[in-house]
Amino acid sequence: MAQDNLSAILVKPNEIKLEQRPIPEPGPNQVLLQMEVVGICGSDVHYWLEGRCGPFILEKPMVMGHEASGTVVKCGSEVTSLEPGDRVAIEPGVPCRRCEFCKTGRYNICPDILFCATPPVDGNLARYFVTDEDFCFKLPCNMSFEDGTLMEPLAVAVHACKLGKVTIGSVCLVLGAGPIGLCTVAAFRAYGARKILVTDLLDYRLELAKKMGANFTLNTSGMDEDAVTEKVLSLLKEEPHVSVECAGSEQCARLCMKVTRAGGVMILLGMGGLEMTMPFGAALVKEITSIGSFRYNNDYPEAIEMVRSGRADVRGLVTHHFTLEETQKAYETHRDKIGNPIKIMIHCNPNWKPE
Ligand SMILES: [Zn+2]
Ligand SMILES: [Zn+2]
Repeated sequence: MAQDNLSAILVKPNEIKLEQRPIPEPGPNQVLLQMEVVGICGSDVHYWLEGRCGPFILEKPMVMGHEASGTVVKCGSEVTSLEPGDRVAIEPGVPCRRCEFCKTGRYNICPDILFCATPPVDGNLARYFVTDEDFCFKLPCNMSFEDGTLMEPLAVAVHACKLGKVTIGSVCLVLGAGPIGLCTVAAFRAYGARKILVTDLLDYRLELAKKMGANFTLNTSGMDEDAVTEKVLSLLKEEPHVSVECAGSEQCARLCMKVTRAGGVMILLGMGGLEMTMPFGAALVKEITSIGSFRYNNDYPEAIEMVRSGRADVRGLVTHHFTLEETQKAYETHRDKIGNPIKIMIHCNPNWKPE
């Protein structure tokens, strides 16, 4: 066990600092984790560059990171399901467990959830982290720490599948092929989708979308809304039952509303601007349901089972590796898109060696 708790702290926009923090003590129902792999998420980069993401604003220094896996090193006195040495995927938000939303099984919209690296809550991009026992999920032996880290974006996609009622035979449109869009493709495929079309502005992402199970891809750079609408329908040859906005873009959200089949579902998954102008008239006469999908609730076990059983393969998302000490460089690589990044992994265990 290393004796330091080096932590990557966002001091203010554009300033990440590595700092020693005390190693935390687990409470009775908590575990102390040696952090293994923490992924960089688009939201982390928004906080770094702009000090905010959607409605959340950085007001004081905060430890970064929320997509993570770790090894249990110490258990609180009442922990029964985990023991030191267990490898786990970490669900990064612990809700209050008492409010109306928690009690009705929708803890992802709990107003008092403590969610890693959502201001003012510290994240887990550090050597050590303490969290509640029941938000740690044991990794099957055929899954790596990197797989465990990827369960966070995959859980986001599983949650969207459930809200969109994706099933065998569904025709799906995914707008945006970043990590969330790509995980959505993998999850839709695992749920039995018949056709999946993915759009993006970058060819390397669309290549990966194909590998993850997309039937069709479309690079929409330079195309106007009408041209994209027409092309989407000509590729799919029918309207999608489910369309998902994963780019945080008004144009993509408008497209979902225009092309979704009557009676279908459009899902807003990408965190974008707070205001959008939408063609609601089109939604009304087709009885389209528009749903916001936020994080996940009770979706980690399903995400893990998808990968354990081989029904979803998300390993292709990982493009870069850095150590905790190289956090600044890892973020710059994401910002400057050096080497076509999709998912950048930061290794927190000082014993990690690149392959
Ligand atoms: Zn994330
Ligand atoms: Zn609650």
